[in-house]
Amino acid sequence: MTNSGYQYFTIEELSCHGENCCGGQASMNSEFMPKIVSLRRELGFAFIPSSAYRCPLHNSNVSSTGENGPHTTGRAMDILVCYDQAVRLLEAAILSGMFTGFGLNQKGDPAERFIHLDDIPGPKRIWTY
Ligand SMILES: [Zn+2]
Repeated sequence: MTNSGYQYFTIEELSCHGENCCGGQASMNSEFMPKIVSLRRELGFAFIPSSAYRCPLHNSNVSSTGENGPHTTGRAMDILVCYDQAVRLLEAAILSGMFTGFGLNQKGDPAERFIHLDDIPGPKRIWTY
């Protein structure tokens, strides 16, 4: 595990998990990450990302957003979270005013449920998967 330069997160957690693409780039945005670190500190429970940076090729393989989705800018993170912690995360993220995108996956296997946060400039968006 290699420190990413951001408290609470390793390079492995932030890097592209695609195969046959970029070889694991971790190009997280330097304005977005302090917001995530701040939220993590406030909430006091572990943020385990299921996905953070994705290179354009990997993103086009796994997301309808193609080669230009939020994850390709390093301004997005999917955080594994469920039940009461999911409520707390969503509530704190909205109230913070730091984020604009809220994607909710809260059905199926609890271990795979997540909330997507991003700070893509523009109007706020919320969706389910
Ligand atoms: Zn990649």
